[in-house]
Amino acid sequence: MVALPLVFGLLVGSFLNVVIARVPEGRSVWAPRSACPRCGALIGWYDNIPILSFLVLRGRCRGCRAGIPWRYPVVEAATGIAFALAYVLLGPTPEFLVAAALLGALIAITAIDLDHQIIPDVITLPGIAVGVVANSLLPAGVGWLQSLIGVAVGGGLFFVIIILSGGGMGGGDMKLGAMLGAFLGWKLGLLALLLGVLAGGAVAVALLLFGGKGRKEAIPFGPYLALGGAVALLWGDRVLAWYLSRF
Ligand SMILES: [Zn+2]
Repeated sequence: MVALPLVFGLLVGSFLNVVIARVPEGRSVWAPRSACPRCGALIGWYDNIPILSFLVLRGRCRGCRAGIPWRYPVVEAATGIAFALAYVLLGPTPEFLVAAALLGALIAITAIDLDHQIIPDVITLPGIAVGVVANSLLPAGVGWLQSLIGVAVGGGLFFVIIILSGGGMGGGDMKLGAMLGAFLGWKLGLLALLLGVLAGGAVAVALLLFGGKGRKEAIPFGPYLALGGAVALLWGDRVLAWYLSRF
């Protein structure tokens, strides 16, 4: 039964690749059809099948042999796996669709932040609204009040960090924090922030110890925050229950 959400995720991942390529440039995600950026050849449906086409084409344009970035199959696979995991945990419920919407947004935000060091408002601002509305309507949601407090806590914490650090963190991170609070409520939203800080801190320490990026090169925080959000969405209730059971 996991095949259906997996394929659904692969197809959504294919669309997310369009979002990732076009949204930072301010282009429409609906038109025109996808084309090779080098030779301009339109990409036929048979060359646009998630992951399979990349393998068949050996990662190159059919016309001019220009390399297709690895990001394309990676985003498709990540979305497929994320949707399959969400389906295993949530089943065929409206909550699964809400979780899929959040996971898709987080994957697009991760890829865009890695490439451009921005987190687009056109994803986070509608995301905040969707999170609040979904939690107001769904019986299994955290409710509108918890969701709104989540927006205030998630966005507010980053607002304080931005003020204290004098611009070390961007407004995009703040809106992403607010979006996570809207979807997850303030408790799991805080857990998401904590997990993001832990993951980002662990990678920063590893880079300092083992070379790699110099200290001055900014590492975008969005991907860690997105990862924390995905983990909190999928397993946050269990993590909180385990943590609280220790007292
Ligand atoms: Zn080409």
